[in-house]
Amino acid sequence: MITAYLGLGSNLGDREAHLAAARERLAALPGATLAAGSPVYATEPWGDADQPGFRNQVVALELDDSWSARRLLAALQAIEAALGRVRDPGRRFGPRTIDLDILLFGGQRLNEPDLVVPHPRLRQRAFVLVPLADLAPDLPIPDGQGGGVAEALAKIPFKISGNSLWSGD
Ligand code: ADP
Ligand code: MG
Repeated sequence: MITAYLGLGSNLGDREAHLAAARERLAALPGATLAAGSPVYATEPWGDADQPGFRNQVVALELDDSWSARRLLAALQAIEAALGRVRDPGRRFGPRTIDLDILLFGGQRLNEPDLVVPHPRLRQRAFVLVPLADLAPDLPIPDGQGGGVAEALAKIPFKISGNSLWSGD
């Protein structure tokens, strides 16, 4: 059994519905259990308020031993493809509605051209670290830099009000 932490994000259309649909598909993966979900944060851009804001969430997915990080990436990309297109018959490819990232895959460390775990931008992003800290503040980040989730969060600037988050990067 391994616990993967995933970052979910959407900034188009019914963002909450896209997150919910992604959670449903994650829970339906074979040998997978959706163990926990953080609150959904409304992540506002710092400057230009006209941009659509994101909805971000982190979930913990428990996976049986048949899973590898690579297989999980393929499964996430299949879910993105299934959810990430506006169903407009006149348009083959619509804008992207969901982003699914592997933040952590147990204590594993991977550095491949198309798969870096822990996620390389994890430490810069309050919209990832805040919800991750809701689920697992003491979790070590196995990227060689040392320290855990809450410690990493303490090092970056962000503002929070209720479930609204103003985040750098
Ligand atoms: P981003 O999430 O950075 O905004 P994309 O979702 O388009 O951008 O991802 C681009 C590529 O990032 C994917 O094709 C994938 O191979 C690669 N990638 C590398 N590491 C990871 C990871 N830990 N989780 C998800 N994708 C990753
Ligand atoms: Mg991504």
